[in-house]
Amino acid sequence: MTSIELPEARILAEQMQQELQGKRVQSYRLQDIERLQKIGLMDKDTGSFEGLIGGRIQSVVSRGNAIRVKLNTEMNLILAPEYGGMILYHEVGEEIPTKFHLRVGFSDGTALTVRLTSIGLISALRDRELERSYIYRRDFNPEVPSPMDEEFTFDRFSSLIKDENRMLKSVLVGKHAVIVGVSNSAFQDILYRARVHPKRKAVQLSGEERRALFKSIGLVLQERVRLKGKEQFLDLYGSQGEYTPAMGPRMRGQSCPACGTPIDKLSVGGGYVFFCPSCQK
Ligand SMILES: [Zn+2]
Repeated sequence: MTSIELPEARILAEQMQQELQGKRVQSYRLQDIERLQKIGLMDKDTGSFEGLIGGRIQSVVSRGNAIRVKLNTEMNLILAPEYGGMILYHEVGEEIPTKFHLRVGFSDGTALTVRLTSIGLISALRDRELERSYIYRRDFNPEVPSPMDEEFTFDRFSSLIKDENRMLKSVLVGKHAVIVGVSNSAFQDILYRARVHPKRKAVQLSGEERRALFKSIGLVLQERVRLKGKEQFLDLYGSQGEYTPAMGPRMRGQSCPACGTPIDKLSVGGGYVFFCPSCQK
């Protein structure tokens, strides 16, 4: 199961908004959650899920890799299957998969199931408790721009990265990133398209290279949304995505389609980055 990053979280949030808005939560069920609780992917105390019952879904929005389902009762469901998982919608009478961590039943007989297959988060929180969630703080922080925001211009991007004396990976991905929603997978794809070497520091980039990087970020994220997510991603209805990254683990042992040089990989910031040693300078 593939990771659910910014484009996929956005696809799911839009589908959920369309499908779930106005529905009333009638029941919930948690199962097989001990592993999740042990590694902090779900609170030890699951009593907060009780608070979902009776609430109506007001809105569903995403930012970065996280999805916020907001109820009209000051309750929220924060879902972030960022390293793998599924969020599926089930019509009345449709068979519910046996494997899920959370099932939410609505008063009209429809249901939602959520399953994490790797690291992520399932959390039920009141509005005032949202800041407690690390993923909420990371992805919904208005001070860290999302590359999908309309006001995210090249000038803004340029000013954020041009003095950063760190490797691009840490500037763009993870806890200390200057933007939200770029994962290691998107990073490899973006750098290849921008023809920038993965060991470069942000401060070393020319204006032209910063421009290429900015364009590639927009292109990769928008294409992934347009093509309904990365391959192997399943949307709310179980349909598979069609976006194939230009660079990443699937290029192992292959040659660069642009220049024919064998693809190489480097260990950068706690993960492998595949790249073309000839195209990426
Ligand atoms: Zn090449």
